[in-house]
Amino acid sequence: MRNAFGVPELRRDYFTDRLTLTNTDRSVRGTDLAVEEEPDTECFVCDYVNSSKSKPSLPLIIEHTNSLSVNEVSDKSPQNNTHHVLVANLGHNSSFQKLPVDSISKLLSVAQENMKSQYGRKDNFVLLLARYGNAAGGILHPSLEMLTLPEIPSVIMEEMAAVERSMQDLGICPMCRVISVEQGGPRQLISTEHFIAFAPWAPTSSYEFWIYPKSHDSGFLSTSSRVINDLALILRSTLGGMQRELDKVPFSMSFHSINEKMGNDYHWHIEVHPMLKTWGSIEKGLGVFVNDISPEMTGEILGRAARKELAELVGI
Ligand SMILES: [Zn+2]
Ligand SMILES: [Zn+2]
Ligand SMILES: [Zn+2]
Repeated sequence: MRNAFGVPELRRDYFTDRLTLTNTDRSVRGTDLAVEEEPDTECFVCDYVNSSKSKPSLPLIIEHTNSLSVNEVSDKSPQNNTHHVLVANLGHNSSFQKLPVDSISKLLSVAQENMKSQYGRKDNFVLLLARYGNAAGGILHPSLEMLTLPEIPSVIMEEMAAVERSMQDLGICPMCRVISVEQGGPRQLISTEHFIAFAPWAPTSSYEFWIYPKSHDSGFLSTSSRVINDLALILRSTLGGMQRELDKVPFSMSFHSINEKMGNDYHWHIEVHPMLKTWGSIEKGLGVFVNDISPEMTGEILGRAARKELAELVGI
């Protein structure tokens, strides 16, 4: 692993006061960064499948309770702070890279329906996320997780406040503005009919990238099935490209999305954080994030890999 740091550049996030130090040394590549070996730990999905009498249908929905016991979801009234895991593939240690686009599409549609019913029953915030790999605190199956939280997470609150300020002061959504700046630029990975994937100007992780719908929409819940198919395509292309370049890197992916009860001044999106290293003293002590790879390099490296995946998927 190489620790050499070129000329660090201090950058501020588009919307919040978050600062990052970005390495501008273009000679550092992903292969220079260490990826933790995945220790083989117990897997509650495999335990569940092995203990079932019949083979479960996919996606398999598991309610993961605080006591870590698992139950298939029933009609009984949901508890507070429920955690649902939607598993797309029963093969242990399989990943999004191998998942067919229509399986991702189905997973997203089931997650959307499930989120709608969660929001219909209580006032909590429903966080949709995916975590792959033990280092990400996740599971070794391609899956989406749904967590009900008592309030909106602070990172989303800060973004909502930035959108509201810009709408009031300038009459424009700052996220729509960022999309038009990043479209076709050096940080773009790929663009499909409805979505754009790009590395943010001031990322908090090396190889971080975001996926935004090109048209202004506050939440994933209103996304039509046709647009979900396109979302599955860009997710599969970018995550597959990431694994093509970084092998089975642990990652987390969160949907920053609100529902209509929380207002309309927001532009929903997905943030993907590969986990190549743990945070060091600068991150912990100062809250300033250090990146070994500039987002311009991420755009170049992951963009090329994602374009190859996309070309194979659509048969070009
Ligand atoms: Zn497993
Ligand atoms: Zn917008
Ligand atoms: Zn966000």
